[in-house]
Amino acid sequence: MTHLSAEQIAQWIAGQRSAEAEVHVESCGKCRARVTGFEDVLAQFRGAVRSVSAPVPVWRARRSLVWPRLVAVAAIALLLLVPLYREREARRRAAIEQQDTQLLQQVDAGISRAVPDAMDPLVKMVSWNSNEAQK
Ligand SMILES: [Zn+2]
Repeated sequence: MTHLSAEQIAQWIAGQRSAEAEVHVESCGKCRARVTGFEDVLAQFRGAVRSVSAPVPVWRARRSLVWPRLVAVAAIALLLLVPLYREREARRRAAIEQQDTQLLQQVDAGISRAVPDAMDPLVKMVSWNSNEAQK
């Protein structure tokens, strides 16, 4: 099995773990590190929510309520979206590269067909003329 995709990691975090994914995460340090990284962030997020929901003096409540939550949500969104974006971007680039290759092959075929054998004398004449012009 290849490394877990961003989607599979998101599913893993949501608790939807296929047996295949579990076997892979156990044997692959890279995927285990990604998964535990997300779990750490989530644990910190839960901790932040708990500490925010503890009674806080009213004058401090506003500041301490909003910012840790926003920061945690932004961090999770970034961690989830960046790999997703990277994967899409890589797939898009691969598709464009394939199109470029096909186009180059078409151009190449077109060029090699551009001067049929019957035109050879004309091509020689043109190159002879341009040699004369240089003198
Ligand atoms: Zn892996």
